[in-house]
Amino acid sequence: MREHNLGLVLRRVADAPAPVSRADIALVTGLTRATVSSLVDALLEGGLLVELEPRSGPQGGRPAAGLVLSDRGPAGLGLEVNVDYVAACVRDLRGAVRHRAVRRGDLRGRRPAQALRALLREAHAALDAAGNQGLVVAGATVAVPGVVDAADGVLRTAPNLRWRDVDVRDLLRRDARLAALDLTVGNEANLAAVGELDARPEGPDGFVLVSGEIGVGAGIVVGGRPFRGGRGWSGEIGHVPVEPDGARCSCGARGCLETVAGQEALLRSAGLDVPASSSLGGEGSVRLLVDAAQADDPRALAALTAAGRAIGLAASAAVNLLDVQAVILGGIYAPLAPWLTGPVGDELTERVVTSAWAPVDVLVSRAGTDAAVLGGARTVLDGVLADPASWLRRAGVA
Ligand SMILES: [Zn+2]
Repeated sequence: MREHNLGLVLRRVADAPAPVSRADIALVTGLTRATVSSLVDALLEGGLLVELEPRSGPQGGRPAAGLVLSDRGPAGLGLEVNVDYVAACVRDLRGAVRHRAVRRGDLRGRRPAQALRALLREAHAALDAAGNQGLVVAGATVAVPGVVDAADGVLRTAPNLRWRDVDVRDLLRRDARLAALDLTVGNEANLAAVGELDARPEGPDGFVLVSGEIGVGAGIVVGGRPFRGGRGWSGEIGHVPVEPDGARCSCGARGCLETVAGQEALLRSAGLDVPASSSLGGEGSVRLLVDAAQADDPRALAALTAAGRAIGLAASAAVNLLDVQAVILGGIYAPLAPWLTGPVGDELTERVVTSAWAPVDVLVSRAGTDAAVLGGARTVLDGVLADPASWLRRAGVA
């Protein structure tokens, strides 16, 4: 019962737009003042809450101390290993980003242990940065560009990294500092959807976030909650067919969305081919495409229109099935949105059967390229907020 009530009190403070008093918590939760005070004291001692200096009200009444989430207590660590970069981010309990780093480098063809060493360097730098700011990292979530078995943290397949059945969690736990943390592994697009949801408190509460990278993934949010599917394998929009007899995809099938709208397919059809082994991948080459489109280069514009139509085609199937209000363009599609939004919207208008009554919004990602690490850190923090008693036990507070 006490464990449940600790969560109730902490959630009340987390959800309030302004500092809350103990009396307010008692009123809202129906708990006695004495119970609330005892719970609040434990949360203060465990570093989950801080009490602001009492301030007199405008009528000069008895001042009440305001409680807010601590910005010096537990923190969430979001990590990401992707095809051409690794990234890390630390967020405090209030959600503020306290550290972020992205390191570019093509990881294709690298053995998992070798690629994960690059991630470990960023993880250590993030843990150091958290420690230097008086934060204690409560756990880490690792985003990977592939299909992850949520139950055991095994990456089943990441076609663009050419990894199969890689126990990412086990490999990272061989590092003593990461072994000390609660570590989970998730699909990058699913975690990006969590980051995007967090960046849009006003909604929409249902969307498909389509993220363009070397591969193309989707994070699905339905009714304000991420929809991960039965095994956490949902969102593989990059392998929805848009040209059934088209080019061979990294997954083995033909004409997947990735073969038209993946980063390299897009650059190639724009005449901006970058060799696969080049470290010029990622943002640098996307900037070339933005420059070409701004200069009205006909090949670049045609490639973007074709990619936009293919994204709209695949997304319309998702919207017809899931009844979500918006399609959000993320990853490399965010800087390319001025040229993609039109063709994506045209396809949605034509193909989503209900669009005459409720047009589907085409939005640009707010969380941007950091969405997956932001969402990963958020996932850790949500765990602490949902079960503060576990954190207090670890912190030695009874
Ligand atoms: Zn495919």
